[in-house]
Amino acid sequence: GPVLGIESSCDETAAAVLAPDGAILAETVFSQTEDHARFGGVVPELAARAHLARLPDLVAEVLGRARVAPGDLGGVAATSGPGLIGGLIVGAGYGKGLAMAHRLPFVAVNHLEAHALTPRLPGLLPEGARFPYLLLLLSGGHCQCVAVEGLGRYRRLGTTLDDAVGEAFDKAAKLLGLPWPGGPHLERLAGEGDPSRVPLPRPLMGRAGCDFSFSGLKTAVAQAVAKGGDRADIAAAFQASVAAVVADRARNALLMAPGATALVVSGGVAANTGVRTALAWVAETAGLPLVAPPIRLCTDNAVMVAWAGIERLRGGLTDPWDHAPRPRWPLDELTA
Ligand code: ATP
Ligand code: MG
Ligand code: FE
Repeated sequence: GPVLGIESSCDETAAAVLAPDGAILAETVFSQTEDHARFGGVVPELAARAHLARLPDLVAEVLGRARVAPGDLGGVAATSGPGLIGGLIVGAGYGKGLAMAHRLPFVAVNHLEAHALTPRLPGLLPEGARFPYLLLLLSGGHCQCVAVEGLGRYRRLGTTLDDAVGEAFDKAAKLLGLPWPGGPHLERLAGEGDPSRVPLPRPLMGRAGCDFSFSGLKTAVAQAVAKGGDRADIAAAFQASVAAVVADRARNALLMAPGATALVVSGGVAANTGVRTALAWVAETAGLPLVAPPIRLCTDNAVMVAWAGIERLRGGLTDPWDHAPRPRWPLDELTA
């Protein structure tokens, strides 16, 4: 039967129902961005309460729209980490309760695995990804290069030494006086500027490996702002610097992932045109397709959670009722 997916690891409350072949029967995302905007970031306790308030209605809504009774589901998949523990307890607990009540298999989904498997969703992408491929996860909370070798088989090739790339966008945007979350605002402002007018560092560029570092870049933005530089020029230079660094890291990561059939980019920063363009060039040079799922599937959503559930159920992998949500849950601790 169809699989219900639940996502509640950060500030998106989301539910989706997918047919066993991956066709999306119904999906919905409630973003709490407005609740947190006046605090300039996600407030964990507020987020947990908002998930609790919204989730039951969202689940009922997607089941109704998919015309699936809970008892007819083939399984329930809920994000169980990594993320904010309060939200994880709400989403995973709700999913387990539903599964238990209707005697359905339960899958505790790793949020990063869900991002990693998204490009395998059938029917959505012109070129669905086959294993192995290289994943660049570029989001607000994560910044990693991952060799995706099979279900449950992920090799983290590099990660950030300080801030995640989306976090860097948000901090730079804040320094430029833009509202949170600043990534999209910064991109718009960058469009009006000239990147060559402000010299900014490109941390780790040219170095071996595929780790990232953004804190020095953020400091340089703060200094440029303090000097009274043109805000649009600074935004443009920041974006150009990030795009160049990401491309450089991706190039090295491909060397560390021989046999990769595609370069896949996911996470909210995949929405950034500068970053996408730079990665398209890297992929083309390597003779690989660049797979960038539609933005709504790059940011946090429940379709990817249901899909990860389907892949795991196909592999006969389910989780026990006492599976505890994990705020920290690195990809390389997963098993297949
Ligand atoms: P995670 O998925 O790691 O738990 P998250 O929920 O914060 O973290 P996403 O929802 O995938 O991550 O992405 C949000 C991030 O993407 C924010 O930091 C936001 O500023 C950034 N972002 C969104 N659109 C753009 C854009 N056009 N340019 C740059 N950054 C962007
Ligand atoms: Mg988010
Ligand atoms: Fe995410």
